Amino acid sequence: MTTLQDCLDRDAQDPLRGLRSLFTLPEGVIYLDGNSLGALPRASARRVGEMLTQEWGQGLIRSWNSAGWFDLPRRLGNQLAPLVGAGPDELVCTDSTSINLYKVLSAALDMARTDAPTRRRIVSERSNFPTDLYIAESLARERGLQLQLVEPEEILGALGPDVAVLLLTHVNYRTGAMLDMAATTAAAHAAGALTVWDLAHSAGAVPVDLKGAGADFAIGCGYKYLNGGPGAPAFVWVHPRHADRFRQPLSGWWGHATPFAFTPDYQPAPGTGRYLCGTQPMLSLAALECGLDTLQAAEPFGGMAALRAKSLALTDLFIERVEACCGGHGIGLATPREHARRGSQVSLTRIHPGQPEGPSGAYAIVQALIERGVIGDFRKGDGAAHPDILRFGFTPLYIGYADVWQAAEHLHAVLASGEWQAPRFQQTHSVT
Ligand SMILES: *Cc1c(COP(=O)(O)O)cnc(C)c1O
Repeated sequence: MTTLQDCLDRDAQDPLRGLRSLFTLPEGVIYLDGNSLGALPRASARRVGEMLTQEWGQGLIRSWNSAGWFDLPRRLGNQLAPLVGAGPDELVCTDSTSINLYKVLSAALDMARTDAPTRRRIVSERSNFPTDLYIAESLARERGLQLQLVEPEEILGALGPDVAVLLLTHVNYRTGAMLDMAATTAAAHAAGALTVWDLAHSAGAVPVDLKGAGADFAIGCGYKYLNGGPGAPAFVWVHPRHADRFRQPLSGWWGHATPFAFTPDYQPAPGTGRYLCGTQPMLSLAALECGLDTLQAAEPFGGMAALRAKSLALTDLFIERVEACCGGHGIGLATPREHARRGSQVSLTRIHPGQPEGPSGAYAIVQALIERGVIGDFRKGDGAAHPDILRFGFTPLYIGYADVWQAAEHLHAVLASGEWQAPRFQQTHSVT
């Protein structure tokens, strides 16, 4: 049985422990929601302030050239690329995940159906993040195609000669379950389908090898494990074998081969330029750069492999402590125990003991934890097969072993005291 002292000892010996000082975290908070909004890097305020006062205030429009603004999406793309197994000049930071999905799914459908017009199905997971399903639904409707939603164990069986694109999220946002990208991509290719991978809960959280897996397209999020700040630009990656055929549906001028020639017709830029649409948010990109720097700071200590090893140790510890101290309170585990199938989060299910049909209390339990300074979040369930979830993300850059131990103790205290039943915890806010 792990004790608090064991955890303090592990923190003292952790080679990554110094990275926490790269972040500004409020006193008394154990932040287990970096999977939804990463913490604020210490460097961000100064960097964004400098761009605001110097580059914008003094440089004015000259900064598009002199401060390197115009190239920032590409430069940050190159900084991020090694974290997801992409090569130089293959990835670009731009727009939102939802918008990037629209671009790549549209381009992927064009490619797949030009080669084989009889491919009329898009396959995805029923429990994929809703925006992915909504965007796919809209593209399917526009083009008269069919969107087929399946359970994770049905994915491979759903592949067939009429599938154009397999659209999957690598790490599931609800359960934290991780798919085998290489094996799934190989199966899709064997069936003649292209793959689109959403890396929202993978980039900066788990090692990803897009090129090694032979993936076709990927998108991902800048404000989760990449610590880019609320609404940070997301990213797009296209395998170089498809780059020249990629037709951007949002063919804005930033994707043009010569944007400042101001020609009336669209000619896509060679390389990653064509994944862009219009003018990019420089202040947000500046904050994203500071977020990417926090991951780069882990390089001397073993980089993504070291972060992954610590992430697994933290999530293992949380599972162990919750199972040791929260028995009898209707708490279950939704996240796979097997390391190869787990992202960097632990999702607990909650079914009210004795009242399995009634409200689970999961939302109020999360609110009570937040009042105690342990910040996780709640994700609504969908019937008996998908109970309500208490979700905890573990960012090894700033979470330590003693934090995990304390978080499990707080969860036990909230459950054992029944304090979550207080009326103030029952009020639902617009963002959960
Ligand atoms: C967080 C998340 C998104 C977010 O999309 P936005 O366009 O940034 O709102 C998309 N897909 C998945 C799988 C996510 O987890």
